[in-house]
Amino acid sequence: MKLAIVVPVYNEQDGLESFCVALRDVMMTLNCGWNVLFGDDGSEDGSWPVIQQLATENPEVLSLRLSRNFGHQTALSAGLAHISADAVITMDADLQHPPNLMPQLVAQWQQGFAVVNTIRAETDAVNPVKRYSSAIFYRLINRLSDVPITPGGADFRLLSATAVQALRSMPERQRFLRGMVS
Ligand code: UDP
Ligand code: MG
Repeated sequence: MKLAIVVPVYNEQDGLESFCVALRDVMMTLNCGWNVLFGDDGSEDGSWPVIQQLATENPEVLSLRLSRNFGHQTALSAGLAHISADAVITMDADLQHPPNLMPQLVAQWQQGFAVVNTIRAETDAVNPVKRYSSAIFYRLINRLSDVPITPGGADFRLLSATAVQALRSMPERQRFLRGMVS
């Protein structure tokens, strides 16, 4: 079994090393082959040299770099297009998606689920404007669309190889992965 973690990166130079350490600590407990692919979304800070350094030091680390900043969803899609594994976990680089949840995602996949989503816990830390606009967004999109989309969903999820293949076959340029995955 091989797992891959796909991580979009935009100006994260200071956090990447601790992210890698946290990731490795969890992956060691899973007892499987793994890679992490950092998709640098045109960072203007030192993220790219840091990623290259991490790739030199760690055989699990893979990297790709977009020619400019395209946005989180495109960076994530580029990563998904360039990885091969039995299952892929997508997550943010800033440790807002806790790596220690990964064993639970993997366990659900091993039970047979092709997609294992997570939901953001509501905390006071989320600024009220974001919380309010997010609530309106999900109410609106669920009214407009036939595909139900869970409010507060995060792009921290596990996708089976088949689910990744299905996503890759979608030609959308403006990509809203939460909706596409649903
Ligand atoms: N990110 C990206 N391109 C961007 C903005 C963000 O690849 O233009 C990455 C960022 O480095 C992080 C993830 O996407 O790994 C989520 O970004 P952020 O933490 O800014 O989003 P939020 O926490 O507000 O959802
Ligand atoms: Mg964040």
